[in-house]
Amino acid sequence: MPKLSSNLHNSFLMRLLRSARNDKTMSGHVIARNEVTKQSHICRILQVLLPVYFLLILVFCAMPFTANALSIGNTVSDDAARLKVAAESVMTQANNVTASSDVDHIWNYVDHLWANDQQIEAKQYIEAGLSLAPFNYKYQAKLALILAKQGNNAEAFDRASIVYQKSEDPATVKLILGLLGKDDAAPFKPVEKIEFASPTVVLLTIGDINPLLVKELQHKISDFSGLATVVLSGPQVLPPPDRSYFKSEIKRMRGTILAMPEVSAYLATSKIDAAELRTNDEMFVQTMIKFLEQSNQAAADSFGKNMQLAKLRAQQWKYDTLRDYIIEKVKNFRSQNWLLVGVTECDLFMEDSNYVFAGTNPHAQAIISYKRFMGDFNNEPQNRKRLLARLFKQFLSVFGFLNGMIRCTFPDCARVFPRTLAEHDEKPEHLCNDCRQTLDKLLKISIQKPEKQR
Ligand SMILES: [Zn+2]
Repeated sequence: MPKLSSNLHNSFLMRLLRSARNDKTMSGHVIARNEVTKQSHICRILQVLLPVYFLLILVFCAMPFTANALSIGNTVSDDAARLKVAAESVMTQANNVTASSDVDHIWNYVDHLWANDQQIEAKQYIEAGLSLAPFNYKYQAKLALILAKQGNNAEAFDRASIVYQKSEDPATVKLILGLLGKDDAAPFKPVEKIEFASPTVVLLTIGDINPLLVKELQHKISDFSGLATVVLSGPQVLPPPDRSYFKSEIKRMRGTILAMPEVSAYLATSKIDAAELRTNDEMFVQTMIKFLEQSNQAAADSFGKNMQLAKLRAQQWKYDTLRDYIIEKVKNFRSQNWLLVGVTECDLFMEDSNYVFAGTNPHAQAIISYKRFMGDFNNEPQNRKRLLARLFKQFLSVFGFLNGMIRCTFPDCARVFPRTLAEHDEKPEHLCNDCRQTLDKLLKISIQKPEKQR
């Protein structure tokens, strides 16, 4: 196999990563038009230049997962001693930049200790991990629990307060509720028949959602608009996803990989039918793992692990699918004054788009997804206040459409179109004069005026 010069290697990496990132940075109705051509060109470069195992790892590491999914060579084992050695090797690294990316080794050992009720022993490892990754609120929560156990109540409370304020993960928040003297929020009521006397915002949860976030959204909407706002718990079990990154990535790369001489030789020796690998995704993955195991066990482990994550995380639902699904679920319950807005953590898309933040059918219903507003999705520290602000702006945008309004173009308004998440962040958490007055008139309400509006 020819050797790559490091420049060529780097520029290739940049291109591959950029092509994967396109999907993340583009918004709404934009589609990557030259993607197919560009990718097949990349495939040709790959075919000539890279060893197969390297290719497989690159392909699946370039997928737009969260940061956690990108760790390589991170094998979980029941062997405590091995976990301990791996954790301590990271702790003794002099260079923090390298160590930060390996911090999962420390967390793996902490998880092992925690599962075996050795919380106090875990403390020094948690502190070492947090010195490299201080915004990991799950382990901040665990440290708070240990501190409380050791009688350091003030420090435990301070840490727990930050976790409560920032964490976007309901399970993490649940860990520290007791330390803060807070109760777990009561579950939302299931969908039921309610006749509202006046227009009422009905937030319907779709699938597994963050209850604290949705409750905060509920309060923010009613404070802002003066409209009664209720949350109803919608369907937990969802239809299967319409798109799966797992499937599409395999489809995209399979031809190139199967055409490589090393792979062909392996298939011939192992008497594996290449035709079957072309149609059976699972068999393709398992075969590639076996192929990688011959020369590089760590690469095989990483590949297998990343494929598992791909199956779990990179799924998308068509707006129409979830819309039809909730219409069916509420058809016997909804009445005239329902302003129905579904809220989901599922990633949404529409025809001709990589993804959408939301979809609306005017005078009928809307669905908002907060998946792409989350810190983990964007490789940012979690920050629930920021997440809520993003979700609320999306609500304002969608709520106008739901009530039959057209798209606003005034830049100081939550209802303008953002091409990127950065543009979405740039929008204010209020409506411009025109949008506010139109909505006031339509719903006979009086929406909060920002200070500067006259
Ligand atoms: Zn406006």
